[in-house]
Amino acid sequence: NFKVNISVDQHLQHFQLSDEVLVDVALKFRQEMDRGLCRDTNPTAAVKMLPTFVRSTPDGTEQGEFLALDLGGSNFRVLLVKVKGNGEQKVEMENQIYEIPEQIMRGNGTELFDHIVDCLANFVEKMGIKEKKLPLGFTFSFPCQQTKLDESVLLSWTKSFHASGVEGKDVVGLLRKAIKKRGDFDIDILAVINDTVGTMMTCGYDDQHCEIGLIVGTGTNACYMEQMRNIELLDGDEGRMCVNTEWGAFGDDGALEHLRTDIDREIDAGSLNPGKQLFEKMISGMYMGELVRLILVRMAKEKLLFQGKTTAELLTTGSFSTAYIYDIENDKDEEALASAEKVLRGLGLDPSVEDCISTQRVCQIVSTRAAHLCAATLVAILRQIRDNKGAEKLRTTIGVDGSVYKNHPEFSRRLHKMVRRLVPDCDVRFLQSQVGSGKGAAMVTAVAYRLAAQHAE
Ligand code: BGC
Ligand code: MG
Repeated sequence: NFKVNISVDQHLQHFQLSDEVLVDVALKFRQEMDRGLCRDTNPTAAVKMLPTFVRSTPDGTEQGEFLALDLGGSNFRVLLVKVKGNGEQKVEMENQIYEIPEQIMRGNGTELFDHIVDCLANFVEKMGIKEKKLPLGFTFSFPCQQTKLDESVLLSWTKSFHASGVEGKDVVGLLRKAIKKRGDFDIDILAVINDTVGTMMTCGYDDQHCEIGLIVGTGTNACYMEQMRNIELLDGDEGRMCVNTEWGAFGDDGALEHLRTDIDREIDAGSLNPGKQLFEKMISGMYMGELVRLILVRMAKEKLLFQGKTTAELLTTGSFSTAYIYDIENDKDEEALASAEKVLRGLGLDPSVEDCISTQRVCQIVSTRAAHLCAATLVAILRQIRDNKGAEKLRTTIGVDGSVYKNHPEFSRRLHKMVRRLVPDCDVRFLQSQVGSGKGAAMVTAVAYRLAAQHAE
């Protein structure tokens, strides 16, 4: 095994990032954060550092019944969330997953929003709340320019979405229009939030120290509570506001070229959004399996695997699902290389034991790079928060969600370990969100609702 892995390791040297390199990535990302926050540099900054207009995390007194939509992760969900405040901190939830066919994701925007509203209508009907006109929070997991909590202009689609006529538009407006067009029910849209914000808010309901939200799923991104005085794009110096970093776009201006490999360039060239989300493409679940596949193809062509053979399946884009990596890396001992063998046979290959060991190693190297890159950018955020507080030792909580973080057997451990190694002076707790980002939209809506009620008094 040792020998087999040495050759894979040599082949994938460029994928293995030393602590030194990661420290440098953290420094670079901290500079990118600054560029995004400063008024003069923001227009040309790759990392957009978007204000979210979420200023406070839940205080536990929120109450009421709220609807939420969650679009942009691995599932589209509609939720009904009942929050029973008064210190009790009880939340009840009903939710339903709806399909979004691929031709709708990549068709035209009007059809996409009509479809979303049809699902919402089906849900309120089923729940018997069609007449209620409930407040709704919308988790919309894409980069958006917000001017207030309930106005959110899509900057650009990411991941597998590509519907026409939505970029540059306010998604709340599009949603309201589609509801009006149906005309058989009404909803009070109070908030649009990113899934990172939803995760921070959900975890914040359980842990008051939570001031960072992290997603490593189909896409990757993080948000955190920033001082208003550092958000130059907005007036006002008092208090804090959550900033959506949109770190997936890190490197879109060339800042990561020294780390990107031929394989990274190949993934990008074949994607729906070439030249965009370059950091995300090195990390998230939408691309991880494909990275492994492209490496296997290349190694086969160089006769380092499968006796130089490839198959039509192996050569098919998307045929190596990211979920395969979870299975293959779950295997601790040699016998359990069965998973690798099963996957490779499923791709029409006839692998030797060495091929299986090598494939497992390729998976390890690709997913470890992903975890370590995430650690580096998180470290930059932790340092920013620590400096803001002027604290010597920071004690903080990171709320986390996403399919890679939750389902990969080693990802979270590697991420935690590297963060702690790079910032030994921070006491960091990682809190996994139990229910997904949809509940967070309801929490933001609940907070907005509470604040609106307070102002009305
Ligand atoms: C989007 C972010 C989102 C992340 C995780 C990225 O592609 O740009 O807004 O938070 O995916 O879903
Ligand atoms: Mg999600």
